[in-house]
Amino acid sequence: MLKIEANTKLRVTAQIITETEQFLRQKGQCREEGRVYWIGELIGPIIKITRLHIPEQISESSIWGVSVEVRKKERLAMMETLQGNERVFVKLHSHPQEAYMSETDIRNPSFKHEGAISIVVPNFSRNPMGELLDCSVNIFTAGEWRELTREMVSRFVEVQYERV
Ligand SMILES: [Zn+2]
Repeated sequence: MLKIEANTKLRVTAQIITETEQFLRQKGQCREEGRVYWIGELIGPIIKITRLHIPEQISESSIWGVSVEVRKKERLAMMETLQGNERVFVKLHSHPQEAYMSETDIRNPSFKHEGAISIVVPNFSRNPMGELLDCSVNIFTAGEWRELTREMVSRFVEVQYERV
């Protein structure tokens, strides 16, 4: 359970975004969607993402479209890697083209608790994810997925670049 308030921020390093992009592009080259999770800690109103988890996954590509599935066993294995106050905050996957929550994504029963964050990345992440403004950022609240507007995303997401 996580209450997303107006001042809640999702803080993620540019490094984690880069690693996420690399994986999604690699999958995209095989015309496959990819799925990852972002793990971190809640520090006051800040969701501080500290690491990327790439689970074993089953990607399918056919004339009917593409999909990716992470089995329950793999999700449980991920939960077992959590240390201290760590939690899985974000589920993130790529789409071949537009970023939106598909019917399948909405129906998917896994990772659907109050405050769960689901991000969909367009174009197999061919373009840099940057500040996630071209992604579909969704929060599960009061029993449904709600998509943040671009303006809400720019207030919610805080990308940390390395200081030189
Ligand atoms: Zn999807």
